[in-house]
Amino acid sequence: MSLLKETFRQIYLKELPLDHLVFLYTAIAGILMSIFGLGYNMLKGIGVFTLPVLVIYLTITVSSVLYSVVKKRWYGAAVIVLGVSVFFLIPFLWFTIGGVTGSTAPMMLTGGLCIALVFRGAVRTGMLVAEAIMLVAFVALEYHFPDIVIHYSSRSEHFGDMAFGLTMSFVANTILAFTVKEQYARVRDEKTRLVRRLERLSLTDALTGLYNRRFLSASIDEEMRLAYDTGSQLTLCILDIDHFKEVNDTYGHEYGDEVLFNIAQIMEASLTDGEIFGRYGGEEFVILFPGKTPAEALPTVRALGDHVRTHGWSHGKPVTLSGGLSSYVKGISYSNFVEAADKNLYIAKREGRDRIIYR
Ligand code: GH3
Ligand code: MG
Ligand code: MG
Repeated sequence: MSLLKETFRQIYLKELPLDHLVFLYTAIAGILMSIFGLGYNMLKGIGVFTLPVLVIYLTITVSSVLYSVVKKRWYGAAVIVLGVSVFFLIPFLWFTIGGVTGSTAPMMLTGGLCIALVFRGAVRTGMLVAEAIMLVAFVALEYHFPDIVIHYSSRSEHFGDMAFGLTMSFVANTILAFTVKEQYARVRDEKTRLVRRLERLSLTDALTGLYNRRFLSASIDEEMRLAYDTGSQLTLCILDIDHFKEVNDTYGHEYGDEVLFNIAQIMEASLTDGEIFGRYGGEEFVILFPGKTPAEALPTVRALGDHVRTHGWSHGKPVTLSGGLSSYVKGISYSNFVEAADKNLYIAKREGRDRIIYR
């Protein structure tokens, strides 16, 4: 029972894949249609022979749906339900309700739409071809043997039934079209979200949440090209934590990670003027200053160094940074641009650390 309730919830929220959903739609429509047919035929007294046909259809359809819900396997059940609907129930109703000009003719077309949406490959092709042949055969049969079908007894009955039948298949086709469109939009949105997530994951560092080396390298490249084209300034800064190995060795690797995370937080808080920054390596960070000279970038980097040094580190000692700057010169190569900053970082280390150098 709870499985059935869950299935109805999924149908309502359209959480199921399109083909599964359309199969269940068809099953529900078939069940309603046969119950309606039962009532109609009994009311009109067309004959007791219609009763077993509709009861057999209902039994097959309901048990297939229940089987698919319980076993969570639906494709076989769909073959049975759509098969008996298109090749058994609708033909039966076709011949008992007005034939080719009756209300079941438009339902045949909706049946083809359902087959096309639910099945794949040979099953789909086979069923569609069979239905097409069947349609032509039925029309030809009735043309040559008009009495093979039970005709409407009056014009008003015929037209009343057609109004109902046409409207029903119009509604069914519209629901199918909307469902297809909604599912298409949902799949597309999901894909876009997934691509964005993967993009973000591939460009950020897991520990600090900052941009990673891949992103930074691409940014340096891009900004260099921009500076080349527009003649604008560009400054690169490489920062390295001083004696970080000692921090790891004394307080543990996990505490080292915490220090890295905190430095990232401080960078996020202090760099707010369009700088591009991230974690370039283990304990190295890179900051790009588009449109700025080293002289203009220096105060920002020094302020960042001060923030890191004076942060309330729980091991009770200051953490310091050394840094080197380089300035983009038109035509310089990527590696020369980075090496120039690295050289200044090396000087900063050699001259006692905790300083930012540009020479
Ligand atoms: P220097 O002042 O010369 O830069 O000394 P240093 O100890 O910082 O430099 P060194 O290159 O000898 O050591 C860098 C250390 O950074 C070694 C490595 O264990 C640590 N490290 C690199 N990545 C991570 C990380 O993701 N987490 C932690 N906790 N430590 C890291
Ligand atoms: Mg280092
Ligand atoms: Mg270091």
